[in-house]
Amino acid sequence: MKKTALIISTLFLIACGSSVPNTVKNNDRTDKNKNDAMKYANTITAKDLGKHLFVYASDAFEGRDTGEPGQKKAVAYLKNFYKNANIASPLGGDNYFQEVPSAYLSKNRSGIKLKDSENVIAFIKGAEKPEEIIVLSAHLDHEGIKNGKIYNGADDDGSGTVAILEIAEAFKLATDAGVRPKRSILFLHVTGEEKGLLGSKYYTENPIFPLENTVTNLNIDMIGRVDSRHKGNPNYVYLIGSDKLSTELHEISEEMNSKYTNIALDYKYNDDNDPNRFYYRSDHYNFAKHNIPIIFYFNGTHADYHQPTDTPDKINYEMLETRTRLVFHTAWEVANRPNRIVVDKAN
Ligand SMILES: [Zn+2]
Repeated sequence: MKKTALIISTLFLIACGSSVPNTVKNNDRTDKNKNDAMKYANTITAKDLGKHLFVYASDAFEGRDTGEPGQKKAVAYLKNFYKNANIASPLGGDNYFQEVPSAYLSKNRSGIKLKDSENVIAFIKGAEKPEEIIVLSAHLDHEGIKNGKIYNGADDDGSGTVAILEIAEAFKLATDAGVRPKRSILFLHVTGEEKGLLGSKYYTENPIFPLENTVTNLNIDMIGRVDSRHKGNPNYVYLIGSDKLSTELHEISEEMNSKYTNIALDYKYNDDNDPNRFYYRSDHYNFAKHNIPIIFYFNGTHADYHQPTDTPDKINYEMLETRTRLVFHTAWEVANRPNRIVVDKAN
């Protein structure tokens, strides 16, 4: 999550008045689909998430500052994961990196010099509509080292990063067992989020697959902690943006939660008038501004937010597991339903 609110003074979200209500169709949801979805969701475990996060948010990764040596270790970790899991890159061969040049990063930071960086991209091709893409994203970078202190960024956004890895592995296991998703899934780890959503901006300006064929973006930024509003009742996640472009996406999200994960979906920050303006503050916004429906998954801020104390020992791994499974089920459904989700509220 980017610390400073983006100032977008002239932007208003205007929902079209002529929206067509979409009902979520259950008639062709077979038992087999449900059993498969649950089977592969169950491969996403607190233990595996923790195993990745204690490495990814360790001091060795030096806070993963964009373009710096710690961030290079982070992208190497992600690449090795995909290579070892035999999940392909859409860029071909061994190349999992979309280079984001120093000149681009620095230009978008008003002249502050940033070094070359990279997004990490992996891909599972759809069986029936491979040209239609579901993008699952999380930012790979964090704040680096300041005043000699390492900002580990375990929640922000180590939690989202390892969630994407586990979701990718679940889809891969399904695919290997002959249950390939109908649509393609793109696993997108973006750099430069803390510098101003730059990696996702670069991707959407230089997409690997056309944005017209990008069905949705499910973006995870901080899902491993519990905020003060939910102390004592950690079974929740904030959802932001789910209803802003596609009523159908929102309904799918609600349905998947009631079917599989059953946590409180808190829409407090989805309010257009909320002063935090979180809708504009993580990578999904670069997709939403192109009228691609998004959901932003978020646990809210906490005392360790953007502090060197955001460490992996403080993560609630059980909740990280549940929230990751919710994203998986939503992605599974959007990828496998007969129709592409309808964008009924384009701006
Ligand atoms: Zn952040």
